[in-house]
Amino acid sequence: MTYTVLTLFPEITDAYFAASIMARAVERGIVSYRAVNIRDFALDRHHTCDDAPYGGGPGMLMLPEPLGRALESVGVRPQERPILERPTAERPTAERRVIYLSPSGRTFNQALAWELASCRELVLLCGRYEGIDQRIIDRYVDEEISVGDYVLSSGETAALVLIDATYRLVDRVIASESLAEETFAGGLLEYPQYTRPEIYDMLEVPDVLLSGHHEHIRRWRLRRRVEKTCALRPDLIRKGLELGLFDGETRGIIQEIQENE
Ligand code: SAH
Repeated sequence: MTYTVLTLFPEITDAYFAASIMARAVERGIVSYRAVNIRDFALDRHHTCDDAPYGGGPGMLMLPEPLGRALESVGVRPQERPILERPTAERPTAERRVIYLSPSGRTFNQALAWELASCRELVLLCGRYEGIDQRIIDRYVDEEISVGDYVLSSGETAALVLIDATYRLVDRVIASESLAEETFAGGLLEYPQYTRPEIYDMLEVPDVLLSGHHEHIRRWRLRRRVEKTCALRPDLIRKGLELGLFDGETRGIIQEIQENE
């Protein structure tokens, strides 16, 4: 997986790629990263990248010319397809995806993270100020993606959310067992977890986890996952039932909990 980040502040994303698990994934050649400083493609003496919006209104917009040149420099070409025919969940592509991080976009979630993790390259365009000139979206962008219904001041933080959620799903970055039972896998939240000490300020670790009895631990964890999901995210239970995500044992626990409510 290659992440190509187009930004006015490469130092923000550089730092992420140099630390921890990501640094190891880069070192092992599983993930690669290139940052493109959009300012390098502003050709005037002051390297201007923004100007006032036509029609008036507050703030500044990112100029199309430096953005277009920056995109072309990494091999992105004008789209031949109209925006409504570009890749989406229904029309995924394993190739390169050009994404503009934007509060107007499709809302990011774990399913979209899995979809993007199978792409060969993600080109992430980070906005600033009031955003970017629409003609860049129309001409180059496959898809706008939002990290949630709130407005950030910068696309870099949104790009980091997308990068962090996707690279860990790329094959061999972390052990697949770690992904199997985590939150959202199979439509449930994760079970509660404990580490040493056995007694922390009079609070004890549940006995079953100290028993060494694998089957009891498995059943306890599944029950806790279901109880937690029913309590905190009943919408996930409804959706999982609708989509047929749960096995008989899980459905049995859900039924029991719902009967006792
Ligand atoms: N005027 C714009 C907001 C611009 S915020 C509007 O009203 O929609 C500046 C930049 O932050 C955007 O260009 C975008 O790249 C990024 N951004 C803000 N909120 C975001 C979100 N929820 N998801 C992804 N990117 C976001």
